[in-house]
Order: sequence, then structure tokens, then C-alpha cells
Amino acid sequence: MQASKEFLHIKIAEWFSLNQRELPWRQTRNPYFIMISEFMLQQTQVSRVIPKFIDFIEKFPTLEFLSQSNASEVIRSWSGLGYNKRAINLLRSAKMIIDEFKGEFPNDIKNLCLLPGVGEYTASAIICFAFEKAVPVIDINVNRVLERLILGSDIRLPVKTQKEIALQYLNHEDPWTWNQGIMEFGALVCKNIPDCFNCVFNTVCASPLNRTKIYYEEEKITKPKLQIENKNTPFIQSDRYFRGQLIKFLSLAIEDEWISFEDAYEYIKRMDNSFDQEKLEILLDKLNFEGLIQFSDIKSEKTIKTLSFRLPK
Ligand code: SF4
Repeated sequence: MQASKEFLHIKIAEWFSLNQRELPWRQTRNPYFIMISEFMLQQTQVSRVIPKFIDFIEKFPTLEFLSQSNASEVIRSWSGLGYNKRAINLLRSAKMIIDEFKGEFPNDIKNLCLLPGVGEYTASAIICFAFEKAVPVIDINVNRVLERLILGSDIRLPVKTQKEIALQYLNHEDPWTWNQGIMEFGALVCKNIPDCFNCVFNTVCASPLNRTKIYYEEEKITKPKLQIENKNTPFIQSDRYFRGQLIKFLSLAIEDEWISFEDAYEYIKRMDNSFDQEKLEILLDKLNFEGLIQFSDIKSEKTIKTLSFRLPK
């Protein structure tokens, strides 16, 4: 079953409102700030960009101010981000907007692409994230999600096809949320190694990487209620936390040693006294299915509670 456009728009917006990271450039529609964030995010991780972005806009609060600054000051403020050419291009872009566009920030792709260091992606991001215009913003994360979710493939598509699909599925009513949401979803869930078990689309996604359908059908078990880890859910109560703890526990075992269900349960209960055995069975089953642990026996012949397990050999 292929997901409809409307279904994707609703689900991405819901997921985004619960799971988005709080990023400072999402709190503004100021095109100058958006341009700075987009320059910084080219080839640099979000976590490294956040503090540099905050410092930079404090030091260079307006386009005019930046346009009158020295290259050396700008480069100094850029230090730690690498690729200093971006700092110079940012400064040159600010000067060009002041001098050639008379201080009026360009709000179309053609004029934005005249700015040094601004390509089609950065121009689209500024157009959508600052001016909320309906253009697709296609980065590597967006592309990966669209390929898997819509085409059910995991093969790199030609740029022309990527654009056609992104345009076809664009949410014209709320392009800002759609573009931010799908980008964030690709960064946090549908990553290179996708987290399909925690994906809101796992019942409709036809990607061969989505093995949840096979898993639930083969096992003939009721799908556990989707646990959305929103920003209000403490990490230590999340499935991810307990999965990590189980792997850590198994890695402490002596080589070849099988760990019993009771021992694992006792270990987990020390962290959360309300953790029930059924939940542990589901976690272990998933870890085994994903190849992260190995059971001592064939599962279909015994219940998980009676099995032992260890890290795979
Ligand atoms: S089910 Fe998996 S592959 Fe499909 S969209 Fe979700 S995370 Fe991506």
C-alpha cells in the first residue's frame, strides 16, 4: 500500500510536533538568520552549529552590521566550524544584498542563487524557512525518506526524479512544517540504518529495509503500541534506553556465556521496578530479529522466557 500525500502530511506534522529538536533557527523567520544557519549547516553537524550560531548572531546581529565587518572578524567567529570559505561567502553575500539588492533580502530562487556560496538547496531552504513559500527543500535526509517511503526503494535516484517526487508530495498549505518535518524525520528515524520499529510509517512503507511487517506477520503477535519518544519522555524510560542497557549487560558477560531471562530481568528491574516480563520479551525478540543478540535455542520451539541469550558470535 502506498501512502497518500494527505496521510504523509498529517503524520509528518504530528510526528514533528512531538519529536522535533529545539533548534534556534527554527524559532525565527528572519532571512538573515536563516541564511547564517544554512551556511553553517553545510557540512557541519547540528550539535556543533548550535552554539556557534547563537554566538554569531549575537556578534553580528543584522545584515548591515555583518556587511560592514572585516573578513578577519568573521573568520575568527567562524573558528571551530571549519571550511572557512563559507564565512567569506557569507560576508560577501551580506555585502551584495546591501549594495546590489539595496538591503532587500531576495525572496526568489533565481536572485538568491546569485549570492556567493548559495546554491539551489540553500536558496530553497531560505525561501521556505524564512518566507514560508511552497518549494521543496531536498537534502540527503529528505531524499532518503522519499525514496524509501514513496518508491519503496533504497537506490539513489537521479536528481530530476528526486525533484519531481519532492514537488509532487510537497504540502502547499504548510510547506515550512512539511520540509522541516521530513528533514527531521530523516535525521532521527529514517536514518541510514532506519529505526523502522519506532517509525510512524512502518505499516505503509514498502522499503525492503522495513522488516516490521514481516516481523509482525511472521510472529503473529499483536503489534505493541507505538511508543513515541517525545521530548517530554525521559530517555531513561524509553525503549532505546533499555535496549542499550541490555546490550551493555550482555557485553559484560564472559565470552560464550549464555545469560538467562531471569538474570536479565533482574538486571532491568533494578533500573525500573515496574518493568514487566512481557516488555522484556518484546525487547529481546526485537534485538534478536535485528541480529543484535543470539538466542540459545530456536525460539518457535520455546518461549523467550525459557531461553538464554548472548551477543552474536
Ligand atoms: S519504515 Fe523504516 S524505511 Fe520506511 S520510512 Fe520508516 S524508518 Fe524509513
